[in-house]
Amino acid sequence: QLPLALILSMLIGYIAWLATANRMSFSWEINVGLASHEFEVFCQPLMSARNLQCVGVELLLRWHNPRQGWISPDVFIPLAEQQNLIAPLTRFVLEETIRQIDIFPKSRDFHIGINVAASHFHEGEIINDLRRHWFPSQPIQKLTLELTERDALPDVDHRVVRDLHRMGVDLAIDDFGTGQSSLAYLETLNPNVLKIDKSFTAAIGTDAVNSTVTDIIIALAQRLGIDLVAEGVETQQQAEYLRRRGVNVLQGYLFARPMPLSEFPRWLRGNNTP
Ligand code: C2E
Ligand code: CA
Ligand code: CA
Ligand code: CA
Repeated sequence: QLPLALILSMLIGYIAWLATANRMSFSWEINVGLASHEFEVFCQPLMSARNLQCVGVELLLRWHNPRQGWISPDVFIPLAEQQNLIAPLTRFVLEETIRQIDIFPKSRDFHIGINVAASHFHEGEIINDLRRHWFPSQPIQKLTLELTERDALPDVDHRVVRDLHRMGVDLAIDDFGTGQSSLAYLETLNPNVLKIDKSFTAAIGTDAVNSTVTDIIIALAQRLGIDLVAEGVETQQQAEYLRRRGVNVLQGYLFARPMPLSEFPRWLRGNNTP
């Protein structure tokens, strides 16, 4: 009869093997997905709160996996991040956006927001990728890199932040107020934009504590001279509340859902016709 210790160690070995096999198949799936065009870049309009004109877009990745169907970025982004696969995905977003850059208004005041992982800032890798995949085509639009506050900060180097600012790239803190180090993030990133998380937007008029947090985030940004974007705006009431408090840019289903890049020009024409 087998000793218990041996059985246990075999079991642990099997679990570890399973975990590796899973990991390998995930990175394999992402690489195959990139090679066979399973990823697509969507965009969601950013609206001026004052006149409801579109002042930019946020780019959002979509994965249509032939075996599993549509996979949400909330699922595959954290996995990709864990397995060092986030940089290739970000490069795909950069390349694809540059390829279709002509669909966007040619204006310095038009903002293009891209989600990046803090790990991509390590040793300035993001700067190398922008030098290779963004700046050579000299897009006139304003690039904003959105970093979620839920990512760890240690990867973010002061020099990289300084260089990005010098290159005219804006930095935004995404999901502001939901992490554990909002104030440290403010200090390190010296951001141009704070994005009010949709959980705070949803709380407007319903949840006293979170509405207060929203008011404090707005006051903080205004004191520091940082622009505000509110995400997850779904109702007129939320839009009106945010506008009255001086939030300049609104994003949410009230105005438009994320759409394929190819649909954006038509949407923009419809939206600009009074
Ligand atoms: P996020 O950056 O906070 O993006 C906003 C999310 O809110 C998007 O979800 C968007 O579809 C959704 N949203 C927009 N308006 C509304 C609304 O009015 N109500 C509600 N309930 N939701 C709204 P999505 O596209 O599923 O993306 C989820 C997250 O995945 C993003 O959150 C972002 O953190 C991450 N992600 C997406 N694309 C990329 C990417 O290319 N790179 C990286 N690193 N992360 C990405
Ligand atoms: Ca974002
Ligand atoms: Ca967000
Ligand atoms: Ca989010």
